[in-house]
Amino acid sequence: VICYAVSGTIPFLMLPRGSESHSYMPSFPFFLLPIMAMVYFSRPVSALMVLCLATVTGFCGMLFSFGDFKPAPFIFIVQTLWLWGTFWLVQRLMENKATEIHGMQEELERLDIAGSEYLLQKKELEKQCQGIIQRITRYALLQLFTDRLASTLQVSGIKAQSETWVKKLLGGEQKSNVELSLFAGEGIQEEDDPVHHWLKLHRLPLLVEDFAEDSRFVSPSRKPRSSIIACPVYKEGTVIGSLKVTAPGSKVWDEEDLRYVSDISNIISLSVSNALYYEKVMSLAVYDSLTGLYVRYRFDERIEEEFSRAAASHSMLSLIMFDIDFFKRVNDTYGHPVGDKVLKAVTQVIRAQTRDTDFCARYGGEEIAVIMPLTALDNAYRFADRIRERVSALTFDEQGLSVTISGGVAGLTAKVNDAASLIALCDTALYKAKEKGRNQIVKANG
Ligand code: GH3
Ligand code: MG
Ligand code: MG
Repeated sequence: VICYAVSGTIPFLMLPRGSESHSYMPSFPFFLLPIMAMVYFSRPVSALMVLCLATVTGFCGMLFSFGDFKPAPFIFIVQTLWLWGTFWLVQRLMENKATEIHGMQEELERLDIAGSEYLLQKKELEKQCQGIIQRITRYALLQLFTDRLASTLQVSGIKAQSETWVKKLLGGEQKSNVELSLFAGEGIQEEDDPVHHWLKLHRLPLLVEDFAEDSRFVSPSRKPRSSIIACPVYKEGTVIGSLKVTAPGSKVWDEEDLRYVSDISNIISLSVSNALYYEKVMSLAVYDSLTGLYVRYRFDERIEEEFSRAAASHSMLSLIMFDIDFFKRVNDTYGHPVGDKVLKAVTQVIRAQTRDTDFCARYGGEEIAVIMPLTALDNAYRFADRIRERVSALTFDEQGLSVTISGGVAGLTAKVNDAASLIALCDTALYKAKEKGRNQIVKANG
């Protein structure tokens, strides 16, 4: 504005009084207005054309003012140069401004991108946070489940606990079904279930997004649309069962759920293995592993109990002791495995004849004792002799093999004043049966 005022005022002041011919001189700088406007509105070509027009005007003014007013040509030249200079300056300023705006726009775009990236990261972090919270909750619950399992020593208890808890651990999905299966003793089911078959073959956790569409389980019948997670249950590296979670509909479970169920199944595997060992140890303490009869230790306990009960109630009690004849010869001739087979067969004959109230135990190597509460001596004798007959009628695959047994029977008499004397009496009767030529039952005297 100052430049403009100066450039208009100076020629006006320099103009001699009364010189009308150069009165347009002060208005010459007015060319600057359209030039500036055009530069401002980014029309540099139009501005240049106006500038050229101003230059031509200035040039004509200069030509026509020679000799008339001495400084006039010089003023025209200065004014024209001033117009060009101002144009150049304004153009530069506009360019700088445009560069600055461009820079600011770029900065804005960068900020915009950073803003949306930040929002994305925020969302991702929120999702991860939710996942972590869910995982913490799940593993805290898993801790409770593990504590419960630790106090369960029966496989049936573990199965019940697992089926209830796994449903709870997976967020209580109402329609889901949890099944803990142990293959041993469930032979038919294991063959029928394609998922069990897959687990036994691949020994890996399995995620089925849609059972109806999964090509791994081709089936002639129409399969229901369901999501499945199945994990193997191990004992000493062998797949002994499966933990299977099924829910109606597809894609109900994801990889995270699979990892979780796999962790659960590892814990269940440990518990099941412990329970199986415990059951085996308990069973070995009670039952003989070869014959399935009660062990000697249980016999000693039971005979004391039965004797006390019979003595207190003045009821009858009989005891039988069987011994296989020449059993050593069977072992020596046919080998110990055949001897074992014979011992099992004899045991089966005895067990098939006994009542629920009778108590059969493996007393020694090939000696079997039967406690018969509320049974008279004569009845026990008949029972023992029937068994003897059935054993002698047994047939074996081995050529020339047949066995006989001898037995002693004893009952409560005046001489018998404790369990030990009843056993001694029975043993003596058995010894007599052997002495008399074997394959017979002898009643104890006294
Ligand atoms: P007997 O009783 O008629 O006098 O003759 P025996 O040959 O049966 O006599 P003994 O009682 O001396 O032999 C018992 C044999 O039973 C000795 C042992 O090798 C065998 N025996 C004991 N327990 C088992 C077992 O669990 N399996 C097998 N195969 N043999 C056994
Ligand atoms: Mg014998
Ligand atoms: Mg013997």
